[in-house]
Amino acid sequence: MAKVLIIGAGGVGQVVAHKCAQLPAVFSDITLASRTESKCKLIAQQILEKQGRHISTAGVDADNVPELVALIRRIQPALVINVALPYQDLHIMDACLETGVHYLDTANYEPLDTARFEYKWQWAYQERFRKAGLMALLGSGFDPGATNVFTAYLKKHYFDEIHELDIIDVNGGNHGYPFATNFNPEINIREVTAECRHWEHGQFITTAPMSLKQSFTCTDGVGTYNLYRLYHEELESLVRHFPTLKKAQFWMSFGDSYLKHLEVLGNVGMTRIDPVEFQGQQIVPIQFLKALLPDPASLGPRTRGKTWIGCHIRGVKDGKERRAVVYNICDHQACYREVLSQAISYTTGVPAMIGAKMMLEGKWQAPGVWNMEQMDPDPFMADMNKHGLPWSVIVEPGFTLV
Ligand code: NDP
Repeated sequence: MAKVLIIGAGGVGQVVAHKCAQLPAVFSDITLASRTESKCKLIAQQILEKQGRHISTAGVDADNVPELVALIRRIQPALVINVALPYQDLHIMDACLETGVHYLDTANYEPLDTARFEYKWQWAYQERFRKAGLMALLGSGFDPGATNVFTAYLKKHYFDEIHELDIIDVNGGNHGYPFATNFNPEINIREVTAECRHWEHGQFITTAPMSLKQSFTCTDGVGTYNLYRLYHEELESLVRHFPTLKKAQFWMSFGDSYLKHLEVLGNVGMTRIDPVEFQGQQIVPIQFLKALLPDPASLGPRTRGKTWIGCHIRGVKDGKERRAVVYNICDHQACYREVLSQAISYTTGVPAMIGAKMMLEGKWQAPGVWNMEQMDPDPFMADMNKHGLPWSVIVEPGFTLV
């Protein structure tokens, strides 16, 4: 039985609040706080109608550490679940240290003015969390998150040594808009327009964004999609924690319409993250673009189709080469029926709830700053099966990729 404070009432925050509310034996008292409290109240109302359970709400600017500290002192949670934006990570970690509360997030810190996806800023908190006897769990979404746990699970049960990792993220969903992003547009566009990096022979190699493409057929009839190689933050922690990896890459599916819009928006400067002068005011083009695009939290009722996200690993078992894949398939409409959200927010919010559950139940509890693959994957994987993200493993033969 524990009190939790969830910060961020966007698409992901909504799922985390619904899923925590489904488990009163673990999350006995829930407060949802965000910059715009009215969004928290709407979610609280949904939960009351769907589950008959009350959750509390609050307004907070998570970039204001004294304000956050005051809120945490008033609520006295055991854990803060940060599902606001990556820009808030360090401020929320500072407030957790000041108030003696555990911390969890789903995305690594990014400075506003550079789209760099690196753990260095958060790993620098290691000693402070360790000395305070507090735990910070980083990247407990799907990717990063479940993909880190998938890698650790395959390594633990199917390999003696792992050599090559391909993380594959397919969204086979269709929301019917010519262009919309499935999570925060600013964060999404920063990610896909950044230079690509992949791990090969002991170093990260940089290539142009979206410059490598392949066709991929998902299992279970989910369909065939074009995958593009991107940099994704979990590569950094996975190659550090699995030093036998010789190659590690991340692939995401994109439709032609999404890519065409992105190219045009980029060409005209609308994806710039630096401020420009407009009619005597400084505006950041990508933030203005976000204001024009559909809110990802509003895509739930209109998105149809499935996601397929998994890890494909090559390595060695008992002296023989082996390949294995572990994956989850998630149906957008099934998510909407359960928590009024599309599958991208769902596949992020469920692992955030499970990570929090692992910490509160003491199954994952250790002072310091941790990435997901450093924990025992088994209890997390068991909970994925129980709480809406069932997975399957295929060990060669019968699976082809790349
Ligand atoms: P949204 O933009 O839908 O929601 C973000 C929420 O954070 C909004 O409610 C926003 O408030 C709030 N917020 C922003 N700034 C502040 C602040 N200073 N103080 C308090 N609240 C603030 O984003 P998503 O829900 O789509 O994404 C949430 C997080 O999940 C992001 O960090 C994203 O990178 C991560 N993510 C992780 C994934 C994974 O698999 N690991 C996948 C998808 C997302 P307001 O409503 O006022 O704008």
